[in-house]
Amino acid sequence: MLLGKIAFFVLLVAQIVIRYPYREGMKRTNMDNQEKGLLFGLTVSGLLLPLVYIFTPWLSFADYIPPSWLPIIGIIMMVAGLYMFWRAHADLGRNWSSSLDIHVTHNLITRGVYQHVRHPMYTASWLMYLGQALFLSNWIAGLGGIIGFALLYFLRVPKEEQMMLNEFGEQYQQYMTKTGRVIPKRGFTSQNA
Ligand code: SAH
Repeated sequence: MLLGKIAFFVLLVAQIVIRYPYREGMKRTNMDNQEKGLLFGLTVSGLLLPLVYIFTPWLSFADYIPPSWLPIIGIIMMVAGLYMFWRAHADLGRNWSSSLDIHVTHNLITRGVYQHVRHPMYTASWLMYLGQALFLSNWIAGLGGIIGFALLYFLRVPKEEQMMLNEFGEQYQQYMTKTGRVIPKRGFTSQNA
């Protein structure tokens, strides 16, 4: 479906544009082999598979015809995800890195979107990969990204939170009581967070 293919490129370019000012964070690569494997897996499943689907007929056996509202829901999720992706980068600033690490001038950010959830960038990724699954009308190219991201998310988040606890101790523990991982905790709003 052409709409889905266009949406894929809009999503790709928008992510690059949003991340570009923070690209320094890609240089701090303190990655173990598991992290490297997970990121490689996500690149293959969430980027290469869709590109193969768009530019070759190889995956066409897994195409399906969606109800017309399904890709629209996907695009709405994509837009919401991109908004979160943008806000999370703006709030995290130079504390962002593609690997898990603490650097010399690291601050614990609890403002902006971080006052509601501890992992807004992952909230954004869930929304974007879910959106992609809905607007690419192909079982393999669509579901690849969300499966690759789910693996990364469930293996990475416990390690990331442990790292933050080791570094920020009590302060992070307090922060955890007020926030959800990727969905805001009920009862906590910007007024009482
Ligand atoms: N998990 C976060 C950030 C992902 S980037 C999110 O989804 O928004 C990964 C880096 O962000 C980690 O190396 C960690 O050092 C840093 N980080 C995560 N949460 C942070 C916070 N609240 N304040 C400052 N740095 C944070």
